[in-house]
Amino acid sequence: MEPSAPITQDVMTFPRKETPSDKINLVGLTRDALRQTLIENGTPEKQAKMRTGQIWQWIYQWGVRDFAEMTNLAKDYRAMLAEKFEVRVPEVVSKQVSEDGTRKYLVRIDGGHEVEVVYIPEEGRGTLCVSSQVGCTLTCSFCHTGTQKLVRNLTAAEIVGQVMMARDDLNEWPERGAPKDETRLLSNIVLMGMGEPLYNFENVRDAMKIVMDAEGIQLGRRRITLSTSGVVPEIHRTAEEIGCLLAVSFHATTDETRDVLVPINKKWNIEKLLDALREYPKATNSERITFEYVMLKDVNDTDEDARRLVKLLDGIPAKVNLIPFNEWPGAPYKRSSNNRIRAFATILMQAGYASPIRTPRGEDIMAACGQLKSATERARKSRRQIEAEAGLQAQ
Ligand code: SAH
Ligand code: SF4
Repeated sequence: MEPSAPITQDVMTFPRKETPSDKINLVGLTRDALRQTLIENGTPEKQAKMRTGQIWQWIYQWGVRDFAEMTNLAKDYRAMLAEKFEVRVPEVVSKQVSEDGTRKYLVRIDGGHEVEVVYIPEEGRGTLCVSSQVGCTLTCSFCHTGTQKLVRNLTAAEIVGQVMMARDDLNEWPERGAPKDETRLLSNIVLMGMGEPLYNFENVRDAMKIVMDAEGIQLGRRRITLSTSGVVPEIHRTAEEIGCLLAVSFHATTDETRDVLVPINKKWNIEKLLDALREYPKATNSERITFEYVMLKDVNDTDEDARRLVKLLDGIPAKVNLIPFNEWPGAPYKRSSNNRIRAFATILMQAGYASPIRTPRGEDIMAACGQLKSATERARKSRRQIEAEAGLQAQ
């Protein structure tokens, strides 16, 4: 299916705020780090625990950004905080709303880089697709982000800041009183935006810990899914240190094909990946590992592939998520036909695997899985290419 034209009337751009700041951003600090930072900047040690709790609540429970509004703190203490610290989240540069309600935000982070964040409203819930890196070091051949070089890892502040930014836009900071999960617009998080989250483990972990904290945004660990291309040595830690659900970009049933589609396979092949997943401490029938499988016409979509997949999954509490390939300009693949995808799904289902076909969302605004690639970085790369062609590249 060809994506329809973008609905440009729904693109909102926001003026650039140049606010270089030497203040310390409190967003993204773990509770311990926040306490330590307060102490280092003059909060008496005896008070630090209490102040940490108070400031934490203002930031993550009430969404307050201005110290002046933190009214349970003494006035001069608030003034001191404002002098040294800030509560800063990534700045929204533009927002597009798809015909299906999906929202794609382009946010700017320090250094002038931009990353994309996608909000997907669903019946009774809503999922935020969060980025973990600007670009990606990996080069999966079907992924648009993979054509963009890694620029840098996002900080914990920038990762949790994406969630806070979305809550701002959805107007979802709760009134006083416990937030009710069922009514939440932003009820789930998937680490499926730009980047490989397990190559930025500590920052992703700290950000998710903040999101899960009982005195703040309060999302349960089972409402967070981290997707990895298969960074085997970090898989175990994901269960131990984050405890969220795991998804794996599997996409092929032979090493030969997976080497091309997901080149990290050359480092950790299918066998090594499956061994690590078999040992994933959190994998149980109620917390299955999701195997993401992008359906590429004539590449990985035969009945034989489906049967091989069934064999490979043996012994792993798994579900398969079939993703119709989301095409992007210049992509070297085509999406499998709906009939092919259904036939593939049937084989999996007959073998007892739940295998929903993911409905592409936000295609008209290029917000679907694997289509994220920020315009600035895109421009940067093409300028390099132009320079290379003209023989102007730095020696
Ligand atoms: N780097 C991580 C998470 C980001 S990608 C990972 O690779 O798992 C999120 C999911 O979208 C992955 O399963 C990825 O393989 C898939 N994906 C990438 N490009 C895609 C495309 N063009 N169409 C459909 N899915 C795609
Ligand atoms: Fe990176 Fe994931 Fe895209 Fe592969 S699929 S290039 S790991 S973002």
